[in-house]
Amino acid sequence: METVPDTALSARTRKPDGTRVVIGSPRGPVEVGGRAFVVMAGPCAVESEAQIGEAAEAVAAAGCAVLRGGAFKPRSSPYSFQGLGDDGARLLGDAARRNGLATVSEILDASQLDALQDVALLQVGARSMQNFPLLKALARSGRPVLLKRGMAATIEEWLLAAEYLLAGGNQQVILCERGIRTFETATRNTLDLSAVAIVKQHTHLPVLVDPSHSSGRRDLVLPLSLAAAAAGADGLLVDIHPRPSEALCDGGQALLPRDLSDLLARLDPLLSAVGRTLFRHPPQRKAVSR
Ligand code: PEP
Ligand code: MN
Repeated sequence: METVPDTALSARTRKPDGTRVVIGSPRGPVEVGGRAFVVMAGPCAVESEAQIGEAAEAVAAAGCAVLRGGAFKPRSSPYSFQGLGDDGARLLGDAARRNGLATVSEILDASQLDALQDVALLQVGARSMQNFPLLKALARSGRPVLLKRGMAATIEEWLLAAEYLLAGGNQQVILCERGIRTFETATRNTLDLSAVAIVKQHTHLPVLVDPSHSSGRRDLVLPLSLAAAAAGADGLLVDIHPRPSEALCDGGQALLPRDLSDLLARLDPLLSAVGRTLFRHPPQRKAVSR
């Protein structure tokens, strides 16, 4: 099977040592694609100042460097919570700054680039993977991009979407496997770990795994995270929520803050076994006031 032709800009042969994507954080740059395994965590959506604030504290306390939180949400139903938009982006940025964290948040349309100007890593969601005008605009922006795999996209289609960013001059691209649609109904999606191994073998781009959206189940996040690390992923994108039962979006897959620390403790020995380390920010003594 030919997944990535040698002529592709993402082909591993072009950059055998791999690409390192640098994410700016208030406590220094965070590299994705190096030896360190980077865990990004936070709620599916920014819901309120208190919610994102508590999540940010938990993420920082666990030693993670990157806070996730959607402000612009791509919901399957127009009647579902659509995110707080510009206000959500502002609340995410404030909570992150107070806790010395970088941020990752989804962009649905190039018109949101300004509202998301402080976001360190722009997420292109599964539903937008083939939004070519958006990919071209992000290529021009030169900002780090997290490109999720479409829910029914082949690996080749996913890598061709990445090619839009690379061909447009943006090398700061991280891939994210988030599960694909299969006949299985026990999980929200089916986590395709073969894709992680294939992408690591054939491309130079870093790859994250989202165990939360792949499974839709809190109880599967730990085993899938360990499996992702063993398969060669460069990090994780994990949903956590201070009160999952009250979440406006995806509560059933969100870990509690204390589960995040447990997850990291379980990842540590596994990562050493595969010759990697877990990225940890030293704990902040006190929240930085603005
Ligand atoms: C998300 O991460 O918030 C999200 C919507 O995920 P996906 O695009 O993978 O469905
Ligand atoms: Mn979600």
